[in-house]
Amino acid sequence: MNKIPPVDLTRQYEIIKEEANLAVLEILKSGRYIGGEAVATFEQQFANYIGVAECVSCNSGTDALFLALKALNIGVGDEVITSPFTFFATAEVITRVGAKPIFVDIDLNTFNFNLAQVEQAITSKTKAIIPVHLFGQPVDMSKLMAIAKSHNLYVIEDCAQATGAAWDQNKVGSIGHVGCFSFFPTKNLGACGDGGAITTNDKAIAKQMRILKEHGSPTRYRHDFIGINSRIDAIQAVILTFKLRHLDFWNEQRQQAAKYYQELLQSVNSLKLPQAIEGGDSVWNQYTICIAERQKAESDRGNYSFTLRDQIRKQLQDKGVVSLVYYPIPLHLQPVYQNLGYQEGQLPIVEQAAREVLSLPIFPGISEAEQEQVAYALKDCLLEIEENNV
Ligand SMILES: *Cc1c(COP(=O)(O)O)cnc(C)c1O
Repeated sequence: MNKIPPVDLTRQYEIIKEEANLAVLEILKSGRYIGGEAVATFEQQFANYIGVAECVSCNSGTDALFLALKALNIGVGDEVITSPFTFFATAEVITRVGAKPIFVDIDLNTFNFNLAQVEQAITSKTKAIIPVHLFGQPVDMSKLMAIAKSHNLYVIEDCAQATGAAWDQNKVGSIGHVGCFSFFPTKNLGACGDGGAITTNDKAIAKQMRILKEHGSPTRYRHDFIGINSRIDAIQAVILTFKLRHLDFWNEQRQQAAKYYQELLQSVNSLKLPQAIEGGDSVWNQYTICIAERQKAESDRGNYSFTLRDQIRKQLQDKGVVSLVYYPIPLHLQPVYQNLGYQEGQLPIVEQAAREVLSLPIFPGISEAEQEQVAYALKDCLLEIEENNV
């Protein structure tokens, strides 16, 4: 029995190995490790790929979001609406600039935030909306941009899990005012270390972000703002430039893998499979299913410390299949956000998702045989549970 990991990055490396090894050696020999041509080339090619005028590279997806908020002057007294079902960084940066994150519930079909609730959450303090294209699935950007426009709000797209995804033929990151990308190794376009980028068509915003990422400094040793130090290494920039050439192929492989899981698992009634939505081209950073909780005894209600999902995850692990839970605690219930005053039960769909989601292994280069092993193992687990229940 082979062990199947949730991601295997060595398969991408195999494809770029020769050219990447040479290019990294060139950088090492050049002595030019920060900035320079490698970074400029990547920024230009990434802007072209996304279809925007400007790309500003930075150290991480987290910094990209932070710089976007700062450049748009969002801070104390402002509210920013986002999803409670995302990596913590999305909300963390809102708090870090002094603004208040406002969470709305999600849609269980897409795992993205519910647009009707986004509109209801808008107040006179709202300055921006951060849609998160979670697991590679784009938010309905036509509807969202219409809402934002009618209320005069900025849209900062969190594209960390969706490099290459599109809404209505336009790449995410080119639709809102600013797009924020992460090149963390497991993302669709992943560096061999940290990296991030911000995309925009607004030259003034891009200029401001460039100043802020260099200590608020427009020219050397003159500081107009309190900024940060955020840059991508030249080595990461060359690796990303090579990987960008393969990104569409790798995203197609993810799409094929998602289709094959759908085929293998669609007959299993107890699973809810992820759905591709019309108008959106998902790039499947994750393939996330829901395993509904069984009816619980009255005394057990509300006790979700070990869910059916957790049990299946453990059994899968015993069969050599490593699955992951993104995300077990919705952001409105995070200990650090107790001060925001959300109650358990307030956003019921995301709380249900947190108990039921399970992400199956998916990555470029995963074989059909591996996917079959995952599907059979999963079906086995469900059978075992049924037998133990009678
Ligand atoms: C990964 C991720 C981030 C943060 O990116 P880093 O490069 O790790 O800082 C932000 N938002 C989402 C949705 C992510 O998945």
